[in-house]
Amino acid sequence: MRAFDCPVCDHFVAFEDSNCSNCSTSFGLHPPSRSMVTVDDRGALIDGEQWLRCTQAQTTGCNWLTPAEFDDVEKGRRGRCLADSLIRKEPATDDLEARDKLTTTAVNLRRLTWQLIDIKLPIIPYWEVEGGLAFDLLSSATSGEKIIIGHANGVITIDLDESLDEYREHLRASLNEPYRTMLGHFRHEVGHYYQSQLVESEPGAEKYLAECRALFGDEQASYADALTRHYDTGAPQGWRTNFISEYATMHPWEDFAECFAHYLHITDTIDTCREAGMVLRREKMRFTGPAGDIAPLENYDDVPVSWMLHDWKWMSLFFNRVNTSMGKDPLYPFELPGPVIDKLGFIHRVVRDTARATIS
Ligand SMILES: [Zn+2]
Ligand SMILES: [Zn+2]
Repeated sequence: MRAFDCPVCDHFVAFEDSNCSNCSTSFGLHPPSRSMVTVDDRGALIDGEQWLRCTQAQTTGCNWLTPAEFDDVEKGRRGRCLADSLIRKEPATDDLEARDKLTTTAVNLRRLTWQLIDIKLPIIPYWEVEGGLAFDLLSSATSGEKIIIGHANGVITIDLDESLDEYREHLRASLNEPYRTMLGHFRHEVGHYYQSQLVESEPGAEKYLAECRALFGDEQASYADALTRHYDTGAPQGWRTNFISEYATMHPWEDFAECFAHYLHITDTIDTCREAGMVLRREKMRFTGPAGDIAPLENYDDVPVSWMLHDWKWMSLFFNRVNTSMGKDPLYPFELPGPVIDKLGFIHRVVRDTARATIS
């Protein structure tokens, strides 16, 4: 995550902040300039264009700005920022229990959306195109039906109840997962969306499909059979030599989505380190460390994924020890065997190729 600063005093401000804790300036996130800009009651005039606060500022605490021209129900945005405009279904305004959960969940949706903008993946909303990206954020507890987290035809469904720490931790333990977060769910499900968009259905995607199948397996395999097998017999013996997680062993789609989520976990956390000025200095290490300093790059666009994963190996080792120093579980409790590195390399290439095509 980018490190933002106050537009007036340059004090550090968090991605979710809308006021400076140092000088009380009121600001909002302006995605095109990747910065916080000062706002007043009328919003902000930026390069001759009028920007307004997202209409979700009052309801879920959104701090993003949106162009005034989109302050129009007809245009699909409903006066919302890009991230919140992707919400297709949400709890009714009088469902206070679920609306509470929506507030914390929307924070994660905005983090996801920001990262997608940042790595320049195309975001084509459902209100622009049939099959475009949409989020149904609903609660099992109050909607009267069991909400199943998943992706289908561009629509990502999230069970808001997983925003409750106790409930999510219960699921994590019962499924024997080392890691389970709301942001992780978003990153995993959007992986399904981008596999369908960039690898399986985009014109010219054939160039990826054969390679994708060779790495992850044939996605045409029966999903229903895979689901039954996974919950009957679990992951195969020795899965760690080929997969990032037990869930990834279930079906080629899940393998891709798990790897995609990890790609976003790793790249975002490396960005956070770089933006903080963090460098791991070889000469200060009291053990046989890497050959040189670990200094996160501005981007890893033009280097092999192994470079990025080498940096990540040392950074995550450090963060794991920081967490255990605080009596918590390791931050990144995963191993990356060779086949997983190859899968991440494929995703790195698809993301970078797509970003280049988006810019040109
Ligand atoms: Zn300030
Ligand atoms: Zn918003």
